[in-house]
Amino acid sequence: MKAILFRSGTLVDPLGEKVWEADLLVEDGRIKGISKGLASPRGAQVINVSGCLIFPGCVDVHVHLREPGGEHKETIATGVRAAVRGGFVAVAAMPNTSPVADNAAVVGYVAARGREEGWSRVLPIGALSRGSQGEELAPLEEMWRAGAVAFSDDGHWLANAQLMRRAMEYAQMLGVPVISHCEESELTRGGVMNEGITATRLGLRGMPAAAEEIAVARDLVLAELTGCHLHVAHVSTAGVVRLLREARSRGLSVSAEVTPHHLILTEEAVQGYDTNAKVNPPLRTQADVEVLLEALADGTIAIVATDHAPHAREEKETEFDQAPFGISGLETAIPLIFTELVHKGIIGLTQAAARLSLAPRRLLGLPGGSLAEGEPAELTVIDPEREEVVDPANFASKGRNTPFAGWRLKGWPVGVLLRDRWCLVRELPGAGREEI
Ligand SMILES: [Zn+2]
Repeated sequence: MKAILFRSGTLVDPLGEKVWEADLLVEDGRIKGISKGLASPRGAQVINVSGCLIFPGCVDVHVHLREPGGEHKETIATGVRAAVRGGFVAVAAMPNTSPVADNAAVVGYVAARGREEGWSRVLPIGALSRGSQGEELAPLEEMWRAGAVAFSDDGHWLANAQLMRRAMEYAQMLGVPVISHCEESELTRGGVMNEGITATRLGLRGMPAAAEEIAVARDLVLAELTGCHLHVAHVSTAGVVRLLREARSRGLSVSAEVTPHHLILTEEAVQGYDTNAKVNPPLRTQADVEVLLEALADGTIAIVATDHAPHAREEKETEFDQAPFGISGLETAIPLIFTELVHKGIIGLTQAAARLSLAPRRLLGLPGGSLAEGEPAELTVIDPEREEVVDPANFASKGRNTPFAGWRLKGWPVGVLLRDRWCLVRELPGAGREEI
């Protein structure tokens, strides 16, 4: 790749917790120089990014790309384009496809399809149990050799404690995290939204916070027993935050993620039976949201992940009880975090970069996550002042299911530097436009 000089950007380094103005030069896949007034090497592409922030490339640790088997909802081709438009240089793909990614062949297929597309990198996650059925351990080592970066039965909780223990023991030996979708399913059977007065008023079956908290508590105990790194997916309740704080205070190897929708919306979004607000875990209460925001700010929850869950229009345009769970989240995550958290002073710029880049990379064992010479040349460039109204018709994702349609958001990704090229996805404040 030829050299690229990013001129006059505002660099945000989450590792050094530093924000400063400088030029940044990349060459041969690495950051080659950072300083004010860098000379442009002969033949280099010069990109004026004045007015923009440069983050180390953002990584989403939780997406559903639906391929193989769910191509009417999303394909790897559309999913990676949605990732690029959303400002993500890499995404970790959950294994609940059809067939399930519970063997080396499917894991290898997902990784290879991602490489063929050549946009955001696709990092496959292997299932914990065969078919994610919770009955028999999947061949973890084989999947790891085929490129699996983590293991998860996402969509289900692995209720069998003995099986979870064994999976964690193997994962620990391989040095790979187990990602748990924490939901005690007897308590949530038939549930479609948060349990409480709103559900009662709407006449909908509720899913109690306790279902999530019971599952997290058991998984923390097993993480302590096995020494495996436990990553708790999509935290939604204040009670889970309490459990995480206790576990972290005792030094357990545990991390957690939260989605933009759980940070911003409450169960009130379900009023009017909007199926786009039907997610699992469900949107909770204002009290939960406040604790989640605190936990994100203090690092108890170190990762923002989208749980990107695209669905076909006709699947969501049905009765609330019947509609599938999920939000198409890749293309709104960064503007939502900027609008609702950064611009409101809940988290700072280096924290935003830590939650979207450094911590996700550490979880998956990827290099990078800071801005310094020698670091991988993967960048996300964000215009913090750009305002745009969310229009799902413009999504690169096939999934147009979002409760944020029509929201005016401020702070959008304008480009990403992938390992081999610069992709402009919106206008730079002072330059021309290319579309992907
Ligand atoms: Zn899940």
